[in-house]
Amino acid sequence: MKNYLKYDEWKIWEDRFHAEYNEVTESIMSLGNGKFGVRGNFEERFTGHTLQGSYVAGVWFPDKTRVGWWKNGYPDYFAKVINSVNWIGVDVEVNGETVDLARAVILEFHREINLETGTLMRYCTLELADGKQVRIHTQRFCSISNDHIGQVDFEVRALNFSGKIALVSYLDGDVKNKDSNHDERFWLEVAKTTAGHSATLQVRTRPNPFGVPQFDVAVAMQNQVSLIRSSENGSTFHSSEISPSEILKEKYTGLKYEKEVVQNEGLSLRKTVAILNSNSNDYAADELPDAARKQAEAASQNHHLLHEHRNAWEKAWENCDIVIEGDISAQIGIRFNIFHLLQTYNGTDSRLNIGPKGFTGEKYGGVTYWDTEAYCIPFYLASSDFSVARNLLVYRYNHLSKAIENAKKLGFKDGAALYPMVTMNGEECHNEWEITFEEIHRNGAIAYAIYDYINYTGDEAYLAGYGLEVLIGISRFWAQRVNWSADKQRYVMLGVTGPNEYENNVNNNWYTSYIAVWTLKYTLEAFGKVNNLPAILEKTGFKKEEETARWKDIIEKMYFPYDPSRDVFLQQDGFLDKELLTVDQLAERPINQKWSWDRILRSCFIKQADVLQGLYFFEDDFDEDTHRRNFDFYEPMTVHESSLSPCVHSILACKLGKTEKAYEMYLRTSRLDLDDYNNDTEDGLHITSMAGTWLSVVKGFAGIRVRNTELEINPHLPGQWKSLTFRMGTKSGLKEIYIDHEGYRVREI
Ligand code: BGC
Repeated sequence: MKNYLKYDEWKIWEDRFHAEYNEVTESIMSLGNGKFGVRGNFEERFTGHTLQGSYVAGVWFPDKTRVGWWKNGYPDYFAKVINSVNWIGVDVEVNGETVDLARAVILEFHREINLETGTLMRYCTLELADGKQVRIHTQRFCSISNDHIGQVDFEVRALNFSGKIALVSYLDGDVKNKDSNHDERFWLEVAKTTAGHSATLQVRTRPNPFGVPQFDVAVAMQNQVSLIRSSENGSTFHSSEISPSEILKEKYTGLKYEKEVVQNEGLSLRKTVAILNSNSNDYAADELPDAARKQAEAASQNHHLLHEHRNAWEKAWENCDIVIEGDISAQIGIRFNIFHLLQTYNGTDSRLNIGPKGFTGEKYGGVTYWDTEAYCIPFYLASSDFSVARNLLVYRYNHLSKAIENAKKLGFKDGAALYPMVTMNGEECHNEWEITFEEIHRNGAIAYAIYDYINYTGDEAYLAGYGLEVLIGISRFWAQRVNWSADKQRYVMLGVTGPNEYENNVNNNWYTSYIAVWTLKYTLEAFGKVNNLPAILEKTGFKKEEETARWKDIIEKMYFPYDPSRDVFLQQDGFLDKELLTVDQLAERPINQKWSWDRILRSCFIKQADVLQGLYFFEDDFDEDTHRRNFDFYEPMTVHESSLSPCVHSILACKLGKTEKAYEMYLRTSRLDLDDYNNDTEDGLHITSMAGTWLSVVKGFAGIRVRNTELEINPHLPGQWKSLTFRMGTKSGLKEIYIDHEGYRVREI
């Protein structure tokens, strides 16, 4: 756990440079606007530890699969939202030498992200090898009021010398991905231009043999540069235009502004960029650079750009903020999570989804996991227009035929659908067999999300238009994935990996079997809720009598592992053969970084909620004692080494009145990245589990449940909190909920 960042209610900063944690800070200080995002990288040259990252939503590359031992059914490629044009870059030169922050002596340093305004600011004073000192001040944002636009303000000042200072403002497409499977670069140059203070760069993803379209990204920059003079009373004014010289290299275009300055003078640059891409369908590929140039120019003339961006954030916070009175660490924790969720996805495009790292890193490739359905949908339901959550469902609907194809590749038939574990376009991209082929519970989460959405919004028409077809495909898969055990005289599900990925290839994972049976029941129920059933049955070629008979038989005769002596559900067959230890007996953690894989598999330690995930989803099916017994059995064995784990435990602990445990789990989920609990924030933030943090406040401490569109409230406020206030959109309108230790109030907005 790292504790080097400072914070107040809205801001997070470091007040000296922690080079050893730079990649962690870069993740935490990422900015984005739903269309693109950038890690908290420095604008100027930095040869120390850094993960350069600039990502454009929906722009990806199919990176050819690389595995040691090929297995039939493996996907050909892993889809990756790739590191794209570096648009923030500004090199500083002093007397012709490029300043490298990693080599300079840092006399003063402050880097700060403001969650209220969506801006990143930094100042630092550097001493160069020859004793010259410069002061740098920067601020940037990714506009959420105009989501093609980003802006960087950059100032450098000579503190103790007179000499030549230059700023090189550039766009660089010669970037790489750290996780590239074959150490390839993914971009080719298409075009570049410079004209006056503006420059454009257009790059295209390399051709690929998989039939995936190539994507173009065009970035235009418009620079405004001035000399900073120091007047007698010490204040500054900007003046005198400076003409740039151009620097053109492969996949790179730069404009260099150079000036002789005297002590205390410097240069100031405003770099306004427009980022367009061929995936957004707004322009043909060859129109992109010119369109970007025009947009950058217009945005640079807009003196209200920052103001509009800040207003848009103010508006977003109005309905999405959660105010926790009396606990600043919990307060910044939840805001940090909400901020990054809002930066990642805004739901306007049903081809987009939420990558587990959003725009903050390469890990997980920016592709879609079950995280969206299991964790994110409730956040977007409550905090945005219902169309946002609906778009997330439609995304899967649009991938149904691919899911059917995917199941077919694995030997299933007759319209059975297996949604991928990770995907960009519906195609499975995961290539660890125990996950690709066996972590099939993801199918259940996709079905559950349909229920969740309809339960929340009352939009039953969704079933008729889209949902039922998806449910039929998934149910068919379950019906084929189980087999009859003559020995048990029950249906069993063999060769499964449950949500707890620290067990592979197990038989009868309780959670997977439960959600499978639930899907069958819900699909049968849904038949009665649509007015176009014959048309859907015809479209899906559904053999009503035969298929429903089998489903009903499975519902009735499914096998669920159970321990009668403890009266708990068993995570899987054979779980009790393990040495049952508890996490407090573990000397080394995280075990995924310290132990060999076989040791993890043999141990009882649980990565994330598994049986408890089932109790969380289907809580109304079980009484409180059942919850308690299972929680008390499994939680002490759980290492929470998936970011998706603590939130579910926090919610269940609240329900069981274990408020202290709930609070511990809350801090763990909300501050997971801020404190780098799992030692992996350097790879990027855990964006999808941030929705889990929100859930732990709303479903956990506030005890909110929505049943059939109606809100129920049963709060369990931690002792540390004086009050909790937040808003939720519901079918009957926007509501503000205020909770303190006396009770709660609901106000219609
Ligand atoms: C978790 C999965 C999750 C994935 C992406 C893994 O560590 O075990 O449940 O889908 O991360 O967040």
